Amino acid sequence: MTDTHPAIRVSEIFGPTIQGEGVLIGLPTVFVRTGGCDYRCSWCDSLHAVDRQFRHEWEMMSSDAVWQNVVALSGGRPLMVSLSGGNPAIQPLGALIKRGHDQGYRFALETQGSVVREWFAELDVLVVSPKPPSSEMRTDWATIEACFQAAQDKPQIVLKLVIFDETDYSFAKEAAARFPRLPVYLQPGNHTPPHPGNEHAPVDVDGIMKRMEWLVDSVTRDRWFEARVLPQLHVMLWGNKRGV
Ligand code: SF4
Repeated sequence: MTDTHPAIRVSEIFGPTIQGEGVLIGLPTVFVRTGGCDYRCSWCDSLHAVDRQFRHEWEMMSSDAVWQNVVALSGGRPLMVSLSGGNPAIQPLGALIKRGHDQGYRFALETQGSVVREWFAELDVLVVSPKPPSSEMRTDWATIEACFQAAQDKPQIVLKLVIFDETDYSFAKEAAARFPRLPVYLQPGNHTPPHPGNEHAPVDVDGIMKRMEWLVDSVTRDRWFEARVLPQLHVMLWGNKRGV
């Protein structure tokens, strides 16, 4: 049967590996990383899926083809599929999610919340990660609110905030205050993100862990007991290496 759904722009599909951050940390996962993003954060750690100079590495794939890759990687055993990017919300992922659900797979999507999709309501987990001031991007809170409305409280919804400095920390507090019902995950930023051409460039793990300690001190000092503070586990384990 021909797949009549619109094609998905894919940067890479890999796994199973563990989810390295946020609410699903440690969970075996297959990643579908889509190509293209409507943002360009100053510290983006996925430039190979954002910058148009890497477009030649991206592939337009049918939902069927993406699905066959996921099945092959997982050996046909249902698991969590992480839809990441780039901004996966700019891709037509509804048919893929439906196909996977029919086979018992689960889907998590992480987005900055700049594009609203009806199929957010079909997800199992929606991670919205508003970008703080250090990203040099501007957050449109009304669009983020619209993302939550589109999700209709069906998936588990969480906020994840990357933090580099005090200004970002204040921004995270503002985000949490806007959406008090949502669990909040704080993550120290990686100030040595991969250069797309050199994934083996060293990562300043000590620097990231210092920021982690500062974040822990900050939330405990402020009695912000609802926040969860987590590092990027995959960066601790594998540095900036891709496909893990
Ligand atoms: S939103 Fe994410 S993928 Fe897009 S530029 Fe920012 S960090 Fe990179």
